[in-house]
Amino acid sequence: MSNPSLTNDTPFVRNYAREVLQFSHGRDVWLYDTAGNRYLDLGAGIAVNALGYGDRRLARAVSRQMKRLVHVSNLYTTPPALELGRRLLDIASPVGREPFTAVHFGNSGSEANEAAIKYARLKAFTEKGPGHHRILAFENAFHGRTMGSLSATPKEAYRKKFEPLLPGFDFIPINDVPALERAITDDVAAIMVEPVQGEGGLEVLNRDTAEALNRIGAERKILVIADEIQTGLGRLGTLFGSTLSGLKPDILTLSKPLAGGLPLSATLVPASVNDQVEVGDHGTTFGGGPATSAAALYILDRILEPGFLNRVQERAQELQEVLERLRGRYDWITELRGTGMLRGLRIDLGDAQERLFPEIIPVARNQGLLILRSGADVIRIAPPLVIDRRDLQRGLGMLDNVFQTINARRNA
Ligand code: PMP
Repeated sequence: MSNPSLTNDTPFVRNYAREVLQFSHGRDVWLYDTAGNRYLDLGAGIAVNALGYGDRRLARAVSRQMKRLVHVSNLYTTPPALELGRRLLDIASPVGREPFTAVHFGNSGSEANEAAIKYARLKAFTEKGPGHHRILAFENAFHGRTMGSLSATPKEAYRKKFEPLLPGFDFIPINDVPALERAITDDVAAIMVEPVQGEGGLEVLNRDTAEALNRIGAERKILVIADEIQTGLGRLGTLFGSTLSGLKPDILTLSKPLAGGLPLSATLVPASVNDQVEVGDHGTTFGGGPATSAAALYILDRILEPGFLNRVQERAQELQEVLERLRGRYDWITELRGTGMLRGLRIDLGDAQERLFPEIIPVARNQGLLILRSGADVIRIAPPLVIDRRDLQRGLGMLDNVFQTINARRNA
């Protein structure tokens, strides 16, 4: 590849990497930088671009709506928002402990979780009185960066410069039922859980823990909030990730792939929560606007097409087989994490870990492959769900080359 269009001259706050690639357009699973190099994207815009890039029908659905109406505020509503809300309730209800009967639309994953936290506290306050506000989340969870969702995100590096965060949040180890049971007290309003920990190392919620959450939720009247922002809408080969472990959440949050790359999130609640909410308890300016809703209706049409999820499962199986082979080839790949189309390779390069682990993603980029990280030592693969067999195999072949480069540097 010649001169990738890397720039470190951006007008952005220094939150993000100093040196970033500048892309001009995309097609299917490929992104093109402004210098004309192409990259196979096994990260899908961090698990957002389920349909890859350049989907003309998505563009048409949004532009048609943009010509009619872009924004009306939540003082009013529009046909796309009504239809999207009803369809989401319909498809998600079989997953919930109770049917979901109402949705709050927001603009990001963090906001979806903020709303979930607020509704959980609101319900506990109304039904049990003040002081029943505690929220439990899991170690290595990621629920967002706003002050509320960050309060449910345990990673010290994300938190420590912003303290004090919200009081009343505690963290428990994942897949440790006795620890979960010990953490339950009368003041717990809700437990937040990701079916797969997308940012924190791709640990998968197991069946025993899901069962314990279902039981504790029912017996102790504690809401279980499933954060399906990364796992929802097909990423794990199922419409919702909760299905895999049998988790029956009371509240479910969605975002990343929901509007095909436009900002939209959804917090789904059952009647027992919605009955407690009064006008003015929560709100947002843009959430559920007609243009993002039109995009989401198109995305749902595609994901719900007969055969779509079967194809995702087939690709996921191929992905698994190749990753297993890679694990056999490199002894420093110590573990396969995740499931479906959200997979991770745990890397332990021993003495060379600190030097070489951070090189994996840039080496891949220089070879025209985009991959992600999750947690401290996991490489994450989250391809567009529409990737075909040929591109998937090609991408994994490129990944093998990347690992050969790392191996050579390790042995040098
Ligand atoms: N929850 C999960 C599981 C996520 O993966 C993310 C984003 N990586 C968020 C919440 C936060 O979403 P956003 O960045 O849109 O606020």
